Amino acid sequence: MKSMQICTRCVSDTTMQDIVFDENGMCNFCKLHDKFIDMHPLGEKGESIINNLVEKIKRAGKNKKYDCIIGLSGGSDSTYLLYWACKQGLRPLAVTFDNGWNTEISVKNIKNATDKLGVDLHTVVADWEEMKDLQRSFLEASVSDADAPSDYAIYSVLYTEAIKAGVRYSLNGHSFRAEGTVPKSWSYFDGRYVKSVLKLYGTRKKIKSFPIMSLLQFVYYVLVKRIKDVRVFDYIEYNKAKAKEIITRELDWKDYSGHHHENVFTRFFQSYFLPVKFNIDKRKVEYSALIRSNQLDRNKALQELASAYPYDVNDVEYVIKKLGYTEQEFERILHLPKRTFHDYPTYHSMMKKLKFPIKIAAQLNLIPKILYEKYAEM
Ligand SMILES: [Zn+2]
Repeated sequence: MKSMQICTRCVSDTTMQDIVFDENGMCNFCKLHDKFIDMHPLGEKGESIINNLVEKIKRAGKNKKYDCIIGLSGGSDSTYLLYWACKQGLRPLAVTFDNGWNTEISVKNIKNATDKLGVDLHTVVADWEEMKDLQRSFLEASVSDADAPSDYAIYSVLYTEAIKAGVRYSLNGHSFRAEGTVPKSWSYFDGRYVKSVLKLYGTRKKIKSFPIMSLLQFVYYVLVKRIKDVRVFDYIEYNKAKAKEIITRELDWKDYSGHHHENVFTRFFQSYFLPVKFNIDKRKVEYSALIRSNQLDRNKALQELASAYPYDVNDVEYVIKKLGYTEQEFERILHLPKRTFHDYPTYHSMMKKLKFPIKIAAQLNLIPKILYEKYAEM
């Protein structure tokens, strides 16, 4: 086991199993950030990339009802993205995935934003028994990826809904400058992983109410249907605090404390389950990103991290009950021997072998560059 070490530049540390430090004590995630800075210029260059992209999206969507699709969670990033897209004159279809855990605030945020911007909203509702089965399976699998089923379902929903709506562009609100990249050792997902964990631990063998994309489907969507997942914020000066200010003023958006806390399961998972069971504190990823982009002071971040991730005991009780566990059953899950995605069938080794074609696809902008960096390279 490595001894505890913190990056000299950000606040990433050895609780991330895949961290590596250079001779100056700087971590590989900072290096990836710098590489991304080079790949995603801001200023005039970024502006011209974005303007070209907007024109392309408009051309591709000519004579169609929509020209792009935007996944809306009710969080600040996706809400601001929708606002931004409308300001550019794009005609998005907003899609939201209801996995049974959305908070009242997030549902209201989604409704307010789409109403005020006059954007159509399509909601894909997961059958609760299926979602529950998947989430219980991942908790039983004892991996730190229990948010994988939802994350991957959203990803799959956006590709399938883009096909249905006849659009080629899916705009994504992720920003490496503001959010960073979660280490693979903390969070990994792919279609084979989700399906195999369900097969091993679930009571049903198939999910019918929402899609779980296979690798073959993904390749078909990307290469044949030419669906593009575009990360707009990587090319614009995206400041989270300012974005929140704008959507609060313009769209009646309401804040909930903590990142990615638009649903109760994620809140429970990040604030309680991951820290307690895996010693994983995801604030480190976000804070590190903000430090690198000069939006947060490193000392202030270290100070915050010195106290445990605050959690709401009501969330914990609510989640245990909603997932159908007794207190004892949940205690057992909490103390199961820790495992990783390497213990289950995934596409991971295949993607390592396909490193070269994946690199080409990323260079041709067929897939986001981060997919190559995270899944094939690192
Ligand atoms: Zn670092």
